[in-house]
Amino acid sequence: MRIDVVSIFPEYLAPLELSLIGKARQDGLLDLRVHDLRDFTTDRHRTVDDTPYGGGAGMVMKPEPWAQALAAVADVSAEQPAAAGSAVAPRPVLIVPSPAGERFTQAAAQELAEEDRLVFACGRYEGIDERVMEWAQEHFTVRPMSLGDYVLNGGEVAVLAMVEAVGRLLPGVVGNPESLVEESHSDGLLEYPVYTKPSSWRDREVPAVLLSGNHGKIAQWRRHEQYRRTAERRPDLLAEFDAGKLPRADRTAFADLGYDVVDGRLRRRPDTAGEQN
Ligand code: SAM
Repeated sequence: MRIDVVSIFPEYLAPLELSLIGKARQDGLLDLRVHDLRDFTTDRHRTVDDTPYGGGAGMVMKPEPWAQALAAVADVSAEQPAAAGSAVAPRPVLIVPSPAGERFTQAAAQELAEEDRLVFACGRYEGIDERVMEWAQEHFTVRPMSLGDYVLNGGEVAVLAMVEAVGRLLPGVVGNPESLVEESHSDGLLEYPVYTKPSSWRDREVPAVLLSGNHGKIAQWRRHEQYRRTAERRPDLLAEFDAGKLPRADRTAFADLGYDVVDGRLRRRPDTAGEQN
């Protein structure tokens, strides 16, 4: 996969040289290129922002440096729209980090990991002139994406998170692909608690079932711990969970947590609503 990141702070992306993502780059699994937006300005001061039309606080990123930068990294013309039927390769996906974007989730990371080319446009100040998004639709599949319901100073931190979440799903990046299967959010639930040696630590014992060697019992305990933890911490996830094929023991585990299976979906029993918070 090739990823291009455009930012006024290219140094901010330096952590992507470390750890598994850094190794994936060295191994040629990920071609990640970081570009300085200011290299696509034409004035002496390398200006990338200006005051907002309509007034108000803050500055807005100017459209032309963005068009020049995005056209250069994606190898398209900044002036001409893509000719109909001329596309030989699929359009790159342009991800525009924004608190006003769709929520970036594990499912989104999985979708993006299937793409050949991603381009990230890191906004700063009050964001990027909206016309850039309209122009970009001629050349890219544009996806404004939010890391969560809070406001950061710029898109770089969001890009660090998104590139890591997508990059670790690429074949060969994580040593044991099995470890991707049982993680939080891979199946719509949170992961079960994990433990390592020693089995007894500061008067706290590892749950006995994990020492039993009984793989069936361990798998069941882990599933039930996923249910318990998700019900406690993220009950919103259970509303989306496909419970249609749950075995009887798992339905009982959910019943103990106050959930019944109705038409394949989990429904909180009214008499338990509010008990868990
Ligand atoms: N005025 C914008 C608004 O209210 O939607 C916020 C601008 S924010 C100060 C500057 C930049 O930080 C945004 O353009 C975006 O690139 C990035 N950013 C801030 N919060 C983000 C979030 N939750 N997810 C992704 N990117 C975010």
